[in-house]
Amino acid sequence: MQRHLLVAAVLATLSLLVSGQTDFFYKLSLQWPPSVCGPSQCGSPIPRTFTIHGLWPQFVTNDRPVPPYNPTTNKCTNVTPTAPGQILVPLKPIQDQLNELWPSLLKQTTNVAFWRHEWEKHGMCSDYPDKPHDYFTAALDLTTTYNPLEGTEVKPRQDPYKAIEIREAIKAKLGKYPEISCGKVSNTIQLKEIRLCFERAKPPVVLRDCPTKYSNQCSDDDNQVKFPPATSEVLEF
Ligand code: 5GP
Repeated sequence: MQRHLLVAAVLATLSLLVSGQTDFFYKLSLQWPPSVCGPSQCGSPIPRTFTIHGLWPQFVTNDRPVPPYNPTTNKCTNVTPTAPGQILVPLKPIQDQLNELWPSLLKQTTNVAFWRHEWEKHGMCSDYPDKPHDYFTAALDLTTTYNPLEGTEVKPRQDPYKAIEIREAIKAKLGKYPEISCGKVSNTIQLKEIRLCFERAKPPVVLRDCPTKYSNQCSDDDNQVKFPPATSEVLEF
């Protein structure tokens, strides 16, 4: 009996490896508008709260994004996924919330174009290939549930923080480690995104540690990372 179970487990693992399908988790990427918006890149007013960049399925084995749907080279689902050009009608009931929490910060792109890009790149091979409404709702719900730095000691200011202070503040608040992603403006490292990781589920709700600690322009616990205030607050200093 036990031998049968072992054989079944080995076969299941082998078939996963052969098919290239491994399990994934979800990464919610929240961006800090004052860091994303260089001079004149964004429309005004620039939001003063974290906004959504995306909800990304990431392979557990290597923390790389699940690649986008392709009918010949990456047919990741048995259902027919909703095409990016078709998402607006299903998103109508949540469009106001999306405009508020998931705006395209960069004014060269409309909100709808940004959502289509995220859907095409990350949504069509998620657990919601034909349910854009549910995929976007999952991201909205997580964002309203988890405001990673609210109520912590880490607040926007001119003086930088050590990168580890930001990570630890979030771990203390949420119980799990985030990924911190940074940008650089004239040699100053800035906090650009906070990424929270969730176990794969429909919808994702259970937080897990993010496998990657730092990405892009930060790489080390000791990096000096600025969490810049919104522009008008800068002028007040
Ligand atoms: P990904 O395509 O993997 O979701 O994210 C990377 C891309 O998202 C980059 O090309 C970056 O410029 C873009 N991006 C990040 N934030 C925004 C935004 O607020 N609006 C738009 N249009 N693109 C964004």
